[in-house]
Amino acid sequence: MKVSHIRSQILVLPEADPLANSPENPDAARPIVILRIGTDDGIEGIAVTFYGGAMTRSLKAAIDDLGALAIGEDPLRLEAIIAKLRAAAGGSGPEGVFTLALAAIDIALWDIRGKALNQPIWKLLGGARDRVPTYASGSLRRSLSLDEVVTAAGRLKEKGFREAKMQLALPGPTSPTKEVERAQAVRGALGPDIKLMCDINQRWRPDEAIDIGRRVEDAGVGFFWLEDVTAHDDYAGLARVNAALATPIAGGELVYGIVQPAGGQPRHPGNPQPSGRGGAERIDRRIHGLDAAIVRGHSRLRQWRVGIVRSAGSRPHL
Ligand SMILES: [Mg+2]
Repeated sequence: MKVSHIRSQILVLPEADPLANSPENPDAARPIVILRIGTDDGIEGIAVTFYGGAMTRSLKAAIDDLGALAIGEDPLRLEAIIAKLRAAAGGSGPEGVFTLALAAIDIALWDIRGKALNQPIWKLLGGARDRVPTYASGSLRRSLSLDEVVTAAGRLKEKGFREAKMQLALPGPTSPTKEVERAQAVRGALGPDIKLMCDINQRWRPDEAIDIGRRVEDAGVGFFWLEDVTAHDDYAGLARVNAALATPIAGGELVYGIVQPAGGQPRHPGNPQPSGRGGAERIDRRIHGLDAAIVRGHSRLRQWRVGIVRSAGSRPHL
């Protein structure tokens, strides 16, 4: 089997919130790039990548340039193709648009592999389990009003979600009082039995993370984890926050390799997103270096979302 052609296209999606119908901005759009890799056997691999923002056309061009180099290759020799593309890309990687583009090619090649072998990818990756926990992410966002976020949390509970994630680090000057009030309000709407995670998206300084994190702990909110509490590459800051709080600290969404920071590390490197972070090949390597992996599911566009969670005691924390 040989790769015979590639075809990419930009699709502009509304930034909808299908989980709780609580979009921050109903007019907002998110452009993504869809890739189809065809073979002479008639099998077609489909992938999606995004995070290109205003550079989405550049991302598409990068996919086209890299994908052209896969034409004529055996798509089942995925590692050889990825190595060829990495070498051809020179110093444009490993981060940024190069990796976003490589992710689409990698995912499409995995899709071809699954179709050629008539097996789902989760089995080809090892198939450790046949059911996985999921959490509702993207509904409890920081720009919603307090009333809106409480309403959205109630909808998630009504729908039967057992786990959900909210955002803190609210717009405007930081007010620890407002942060705690919002965390308590969401917890109140969800009740005590739903796991509640919280994403800061790198918006706090370490001292703010420690201060607000302690206040939230004292208020009894009981976050399952606090995510990306400060700049993703401030490993010393992350270690300080991690040491100061009882709440597990998550990170890794913007990490492109295995990190072993000096002086400690986040207790839960997590949330790599293959569509944006290098594809299944990269994830596969990480799985071998970590304790546990959760495949969270496929979207209709075959986007893979894999979360890797590692606990302080090397015990998978699912
Ligand atoms: Mg995140």
